[in-house]
Formats: sequence, structure tokens, C-alpha cells
Amino acid sequence: MRRPLVAANWKMNLDLLAIRALIADLRQSYDKSSDVDVVLCAAFPYLFPMAKALAGTGIRMGGQDVFHEASGAYTGEVSAAMLVDTGAKYVIIGHSERRHTIGHLEDDHMINLKLKAALNAGLTPILCVGETIAERKAERTLDILTFQLRAALIGVEIDNPAKFVVAYEPVWAIGTGQVATPQQAQDAHAHLRSELGGIIASEQADAVRILYGGSVKPDSAAEIFRQTDVDGGLIGGASLKSDSFAAIITAALASRS
Ligand code: PEP
Repeated sequence: MRRPLVAANWKMNLDLLAIRALIADLRQSYDKSSDVDVVLCAAFPYLFPMAKALAGTGIRMGGQDVFHEASGAYTGEVSAAMLVDTGAKYVIIGHSERRHTIGHLEDDHMINLKLKAALNAGLTPILCVGETIAERKAERTLDILTFQLRAALIGVEIDNPAKFVVAYEPVWAIGTGQVATPQQAQDAHAHLRSELGGIIASEQADAVRILYGGSVKPDSAAEIFRQTDVDGGLIGGASLKSDSFAAIITAALASRS
């Protein structure tokens, strides 16, 4: 059985004081021996102090992006080895805000290179895929997911499926308060898993965790996480407060009982 994973995407939010307070709260509420993995993806400057604050909690850290080159004249970028040096174990790759909103406008080729760089460095990538509202209305959701997944995985070897995570994040649900229905999430996840089975072996695809992301809140988490192919969540807004994030972790745990 796949172990649920709840990952926070703090984006460009919180300061060091708030991060320390949130981690202190999670230290109380999260039992590291419980059957759910927790990851906090923070802005780069906070990763080193976070590593210290997280010691002994069993909670892992992640970056929100990585650059694909190992070193060189790439002002402002952060390599996979640099992320590893901070103690980060995970990294979000291809978040929709980077694909569609922020000036970089990452394309599928760059996401493929980033994925390879992360895996080569021993990081666990959280690969984000998802359709826009126009694509959903045009009934192109499954085609878009297939395309993004296949493009990201060109030439990629997945040695250990437990160290590769996919996040289905419909663009129209991120930060909008509009959450996918449990059935919409399940349909997308089942499709992604079946496509993965055609790229890597199907037993391997069965072991890959696929997270749902997009306006998950404590009251919507339980029903979504109960879907067969949903293995937890990538949580933005609701991860900024310890009580709502803790409630979502509890929902992930309950989804497997
Ligand atoms: C995200 O940014 O990955 C996300 C899911 O955000 P939110 O939960 O705020 O929609």
C-alpha cells in the first residue's frame, strides 16, 4: 500500500519567525511514527534554518524549484546539489505558477531537464501537472495530462518509485477556492497512473504516489484523499496555518484506515 504524503507549498509566504512557530506547532501535532509522510516546501533562504528547527520531527524539507545545470553563470538559480546541501529531500518541479504565471514561463523541455537533475542528485521530485480551465472545458484534460507526464519523463529512469511523486494540480483550482470534485480528482489520478504504467513498469506505477493539489482545505481533504488513486495532497493556502495543515495531515492518515 502506498504511504500517504502531505506536502506544503508555502510559495513566497511566511517569515523565519512564522516558520519556526509553525514547526513548533507541528512538532506537537505530528507523530513521526504515524503512517503519513509530511514535507514542507519553503523559499530557499529558509531551508538551512528549517533543517535545524525540524531535527527529530520526522518532517522533511523541500525546495519549490531547482535549476537543471550543475553550476555556472546562472544568476539567481539554485542547483540540485545546492538543495541537497541544505538538507532538502524533495523538490517541486513544474508548478503551474512557474509554467503559467511567473516571468520564467517554464516549458516541458525545461521541466524534463529539471526532473533529471533532481533525480540524479537523489532528490525526490514532486512533478506537477494539470490542465487550465479552457483545456478542461474543451475536454482536453486527459490529453494534457498525458502530454505533460510523457514530456517530463523523456529519457528518465525511475529506479525507485517511492522516490518519485506526481501532483495533479488543475490550474483552475490553485489558490482559487475552487476544489476539484473527488470524482474529477480520481479520474485524473487513475489516468495518470495508467499512463505511468505505459512509461515505467505497471508495478512501479502502482507504487508512485500521486497527490492532489488545488484549494484543499480541512473540510474537503478527507473525501478527496479517500479516492483510490489519491495518495495525499500538495497544499498551498491551508498549509500556512498549523491547525488547518495538521487537520489535513489527520485526514490523510484517516484515508488509509
Ligand atoms: C499549490 O500552490 O500547489 C496549491 C495547491 O495551492 P492552494 O492549495 O492554495 O490552491
